[in-house]
Amino acid sequence: MKIFKQFNTSGNCFICNTNENKPCVLIPKDNTEDDGIEEAEQVHIDCINLRYNPEINFFYQKVSNKWKTKFKSLNQPLKKLLIKL
Ligand SMILES: [Zn+2]
Repeated sequence: MKIFKQFNTSGNCFICNTNENKPCVLIPKDNTEDDGIEEAEQVHIDCINLRYNPEINFFYQKVSNKWKTKFKSLNQPLKKLLIKL
């Protein structure tokens, strides 16, 4: 994963919801790949706080409670994964 020294201040980090100019990475978004190119979101390095679940061999981070309101529109495999978490 490439680390960028500058944050593109035209958007916000989806974890802290600010556009502070700090080192960041691009996180690819599920279900956006088209011809080898996919959409990504910027996240500050210091906002990343990953956890590892060895039972399902999966890295994750709870971002906020916002996902609950979007839960109804998620695809079925992702719903099943989130229910397990
Ligand atoms: Zn952030």
